[in-house]
Amino acid sequence: MEKVVIIGSGCAGLTAALYTARANLQPLVLTGLQPGGLLTTTSIVENYPGFPEGIDGYELMMRLQKQAERFGARVQFGTVDSVALGGQPLVLTVDGERLETETLIIASGAGHRHLGLPSEALLEKKGVTYCATCDGALPMFRNQPLVVVGGGDSACEEATYLTRFASVVYLIHRRDSLRASRIMAERTLANPKIKPIWNSAVTEVLDPALDKVTGVKVKNLLTNEESVLDCAGLFVAIGHVPNTAIFKGVINMDENGYIIPVRGTETNISGVFVAGDCSDHVYRQAITAAGQGCAAAIDAERYLAARLE
Ligand code: NAP
Repeated sequence: MEKVVIIGSGCAGLTAALYTARANLQPLVLTGLQPGGLLTTTSIVENYPGFPEGIDGYELMMRLQKQAERFGARVQFGTVDSVALGGQPLVLTVDGERLETETLIIASGAGHRHLGLPSEALLEKKGVTYCATCDGALPMFRNQPLVVVGGGDSACEEATYLTRFASVVYLIHRRDSLRASRIMAERTLANPKIKPIWNSAVTEVLDPALDKVTGVKVKNLLTNEESVLDCAGLFVAIGHVPNTAIFKGVINMDENGYIIPVRGTETNISGVFVAGDCSDHVYRQAITAAGQGCAAAIDAERYLAARLE
């Protein structure tokens, strides 16, 4: 039986792994479908303390994994299918295999929110994407007009990144000002290749019949007028949804699926702790996720020590 299993290999999960490994608990980290978490899909991270020049998101996560492994953490590619947390041992089914553990740290993070349009789903990976750093350099986007939807830091980051490849980047936002941090918003709006389109929503992605993106239908939310904007790609950057579906009905969560801890990082289930974006919809930073991962590791360690008394 494992002493500590950590679901998720982002900043929260790998920091929990580092701390529990250094406590000699040989944690097992299950990576999920995106080893290293969402930060691996970002470009340069400028606000993680200790890196005055910034650090590539992928590199940061690889370093963190290496650091955890150095002290005995084991990182295994795997996805949790279901959980049975009714008592000890806690039981997980991981890619069809049974896994028993004394403690569980949920650091499953969050995935990209979708607009929810049928045409968006039909054209996913055919010009509709959720990650500029992953897909922006594809030949189909080179020297073409591209559209980014959203008004937060992610949308600003995606739009700025895409200016390297696009002829022009239209930033479509449903309000008349950006929600992004001031420095990101100012940098974005000062970029001559980025054209903001305010108070507007994408209502349809064209053209599923051609099996590629040729444009988007845009509705002005003040006048209700609809127009077509030609583009070769749609980059959706409208926030995230927590990866917590397998815990529904078992672990306390709010109506949006964010896990609600009962005290510190403890959940309503004894021996189960939570950290990072799957429970935090307020701060959602790499450094806060890492901090919560550290706290969850300390809580799990204390829980295990108390069981031995
Ligand atoms: P966010 O801050 O929640 O922003 C989401 C944006 O999408 C908002 O502008 C929102 O509009 C819009 N939106 C939401 N649902 C929509 C819908 N159905 N249709 C159209 N627009 C929709 O998410 P985020 O930008 O992904 O950022 C998440 C967190 O990560 C934040 O804390 C951010 O600071 C952090 N982050 C930091 C960096 C960095 O510092 N380098 C980079 C990326 C992200 P409204 O404004 O109207 O709500």
